[in-house]
Amino acid sequence: MSMRIAILGATGSIGVQALEVVRELRGRGEDIEIVALAAGRRVEELCRSAREFGVRAISVLGPAEAGRARQLLPPSVEILHGQEGLEVIASHPEVDLVLNAVVGAAGLRATLAALSAGKRVALANKESLVIGGHLVMELVRDPDQLIPVDSEHSAIRQALRGLTGDEVARLWITASGGAFRDRDPAELSQVTPEEALAHPTWNMGPRITVDSATLVNKAFEVIEAHWLFAMPYGRIGVLLHPQSIVHGVAELVDGSWIAVLSTPDMRIPIKYALTYPRHLPPPPRGFSLAGKNLEFEEIPEGRYPAFEEVLGAGIEGGTAPAVANAADEELVAAFLAGRIPFTAIAAGISHVLERHAPMPVPRLEDILSADAWAREEVHRWMAQRFGPTIGRERRMDGSDDR
Ligand code: NAD
Ligand code: MG
Repeated sequence: MSMRIAILGATGSIGVQALEVVRELRGRGEDIEIVALAAGRRVEELCRSAREFGVRAISVLGPAEAGRARQLLPPSVEILHGQEGLEVIASHPEVDLVLNAVVGAAGLRATLAALSAGKRVALANKESLVIGGHLVMELVRDPDQLIPVDSEHSAIRQALRGLTGDEVARLWITASGGAFRDRDPAELSQVTPEEALAHPTWNMGPRITVDSATLVNKAFEVIEAHWLFAMPYGRIGVLLHPQSIVHGVAELVDGSWIAVLSTPDMRIPIKYALTYPRHLPPPPRGFSLAGKNLEFEEIPEGRYPAFEEVLGAGIEGGTAPAVANAADEELVAAFLAGRIPFTAIAAGISHVLERHAPMPVPRLEDILSADAWAREEVHRWMAQRFGPTIGRERRMDGSDDR
């Protein structure tokens, strides 16, 4: 296997684990090279990785970050910045595969650029599909060009290997239930960011960890599955599964169910997306099914209002999911900054969706303007309900970087 890759979001939870996977694959003699890296603000960390892997180009958030990077890297390394920089890296002529592990709507244009340039895309940035699923899928020439990194979709992709569409009755995605699964709902207005960030089974970036507690992440994943597997919403189910061992299931028309299981470790689906369609050793240590109790239950109705709102937006389609995502990004940032209670996330999403008249088949510009409108609207709503805006210092635009 000879492969040249670019990693977008290289300083995040997925990005750092991807670097680990590449180190390990190279250590085992695989011919895999990192040509370019991109991230937001963690310039020192990014430059350290850039030097370690001898990359040819990097991109960072803005000109200030680019200036700092210039002092840390040899003159031969090209340094880019902003959305344009991200897109240049995503379509770099020497790259075969782009791992998009940027968080948030900021990842969409890079996915489109990579696919347009004919790259294989290993997609962690689920927001690309949530807000622009039809734009992404119209660029995918064959199913092997877009490989999901999300563990549930990676599992389903494996479960579907060798099957035809008419053999599949339903897809099932599992959800851990997040940090507050066992909390009394009456206490949810009092929970803290620290509690929300303590995920029971997965160790991930801050936005997706909070999205796991609201189950917004799971609504996103249903939307993601709808686009990836061309599956109608009525045939995608979600099950609470506290152990996070069964990740995704294909239910077949003859009553067979094919599930994919593993220990909850993102390095497994990351490696599979990089080496697709091959599974390569080694596995993480020490996993056995012996002694494991695997439990599954329906999502309790009314328990996860943000899940219902966002799933509704996905089913409605058009610009609705972009609006839901943008509102959620801003609300999660405000919750993490201590400005709003946890329960305001669902209320804020509901508020912007109510005010939005979705456009049915939006182009990229329409999605970006719906996204911008939703951010403004949700900030107006937060200011009204919780006092004046104190800035967007914890936005998930790379300012946090994890
Ligand atoms: P993270 O916050 O840990 O990392 C995000 C990365 O994106 C950082 O490197 C940051 O610098 C970069 N970034 C953010 N905004 C940017 C911008 N405007 N320009 C360039 N770079 C920017 O997030 P994460 O948990 O690694 O998640 C990344 C993506 O993968 C998300 O879409 C998430 O939903 C998805 N995902 C993550 C996990 C997980 O285990 N962490 C699992 C499944 C899916
Ligand atoms: Mg997932």
